[in-house]
Amino acid sequence: MSDTIFGKIIRREIPADIVYEDDLALAFKDVSPQAPTHILVIPKKPIPRLSDSTESDTELMGHLLMTVKKVADLANLSNGYRVVINNGNDAGQSVDHLHLHILGDRSMNWPPG
Ligand code: 5GP
Repeated sequence: MSDTIFGKIIRREIPADIVYEDDLALAFKDVSPQAPTHILVIPKKPIPRLSDSTESDTELMGHLLMTVKKVADLANLSNGYRVVINNGNDAGQSVDHLHLHILGDRSMNWPPG
């Protein structure tokens, strides 16, 4: 199991505002929200980065995207939302446990910074 902060959240060693959980994934509110709704979806499997995933993770990756859709529905983001994966240093990834950001309840700019 990962010993990042997200591993600790999975193991309930530190608190988080969990909004969804199943066998493969966990979703919880970001502690430093960048939008009125900011939720992180993570795999329970400790994959550090998207670029560390392998062919054997194909089904899990699909599951994570379907979890994003489910969580966005639960959060009533019917007006749209943005899904972000920061991969590695240039993208500003700060926690080495794969996570998908769901940002919603405000309009977004493009391109991102
Ligand atoms: P990254 O920059 O790696 O793409 O995103 C990491 C995210 O994790 C950040 O948005 C940050 O606010 C969030 N985060 C970091 N530590 C914690 C924590 O202990 N609890 C929660 N809920 N979010 C965290």
